[in-house]
Amino acid sequence: MKQLKKPEVLAPAGTLEKLKTAVIYGADAVFIGGEAYGLRSRAGNFGYDEIDEGVQFAHERGAKVYITANMVTHEGDEEGADRFFQKLYELGVDAVIVSDPALIAICAEAAPNLPIHLSTQASAANYETLNFWAEEGLERVVLAREVSMAEIMEMQQHVDVEIEAFIHGAMCISYSGRCVLSNHMERRDANRGGCCQSCRWKYGLFDMDFDGNRNFITHGEKDPDWEPFSMSSVDMSMIHHIPDLIEAGVDSLKIEGRMKSIHYVSTVCNVYRAAVDAYCADPEHYVVKQEWVDELWKAAQRELASGFYYGIPSENEQLFGQRRRIPGYAFVGQVLGYDPETQMATIQQRNNFKVGDIIEFYGPGMRHFEQVLSQMWDEDGNEIEVARHAMMTVRFKVNHPVQVNDMIRKEKPEIKVKTRPRQRVASRL
Ligand code: SF4
Repeated sequence: MKQLKKPEVLAPAGTLEKLKTAVIYGADAVFIGGEAYGLRSRAGNFGYDEIDEGVQFAHERGAKVYITANMVTHEGDEEGADRFFQKLYELGVDAVIVSDPALIAICAEAAPNLPIHLSTQASAANYETLNFWAEEGLERVVLAREVSMAEIMEMQQHVDVEIEAFIHGAMCISYSGRCVLSNHMERRDANRGGCCQSCRWKYGLFDMDFDGNRNFITHGEKDPDWEPFSMSSVDMSMIHHIPDLIEAGVDSLKIEGRMKSIHYVSTVCNVYRAAVDAYCADPEHYVVKQEWVDELWKAAQRELASGFYYGIPSENEQLFGQRRRIPGYAFVGQVLGYDPETQMATIQQRNNFKVGDIIEFYGPGMRHFEQVLSQMWDEDGNEIEVARHAMMTVRFKVNHPVQVNDMIRKEKPEIKVKTRPRQRVASRL
């Protein structure tokens, strides 16, 4: 059997809880934001104590921690960056993800043994660019999301630097995030961590004649016949193409979403861990399991597509109006403990659930089972019908053994999705 280089599964972690969840659910590495120089100013960035705890937790389990410092710096922004990078090195951080050459130069001088990864913000899309950064001493390049699979294969022929590529998560409709829409609408700079996702807002759409008269195509949410227009892209999922990425020699498979929940992080890590392990263990008999696809849909935010890997996205990869498929599951709890003698599980509530609900347990390694919740007690032993208080502790009997950090979700009531005149909207753009 041929030897394959197993790529790293790299997960997002906006908080310490998400970092631990990602590692428990199979991530080989996580990327987090420090309190300075990152692009997710609202993603729950880590202070030094949390970085310290996160690095120790990850390293004890064989995982790595990367810190994003990928903002575009203006004059003065870089002040203190030397101490920041030195501190990260002292804390044992495995690499920093940077795009601004000023920060790259400061990091290389202040913390010469701290590996640097070039952020996707730098839009690296050809092997000459990769070689340039390799010669500057960078260890890895995170490719632009706009790179195709054929281009990755071409790059691999010519470079001696690690390649990281996105496999799952939200796409930005602007080229590699170069966007001023958020600045324009809310004075929040997307390139300095403030994107307010204004592309995904709902807009009325009009064209204008030569006399400057507005002719509304859709009036946004006020128009009952037309759905509001947005410029949102569908999300990326490469679950059907993991073999292509591995065969192309990609070193790190990146999941996007530092602002997403532990439900999302655990679900997506679980699935890609399973897929990568399965392909590397036996590529000849590998099949994409329907269970993996179904699982991703339980935590999906939008519709899923393969981005730019196999061609330029068409209008079908844009969400001009209402989404066509709605995620059907809600995260309701996390296992805090389990007594094998009584089969009682202790659960922390994360969303309302009640007696009579069909709930689904899942855990690392794609363990799953469903059961009907027939009885439940609160922390004081009182029988209750509904777990309605945020983060409350409840207990109930489970049909199969569970483990600490297993998660619970339940199906949401079916949401009717309206069909929409998408072709008509697109044809009039
Ligand atoms: S507003 Fe939209 S297009 Fe602009 S950076 Fe944010 S996500 Fe990307």
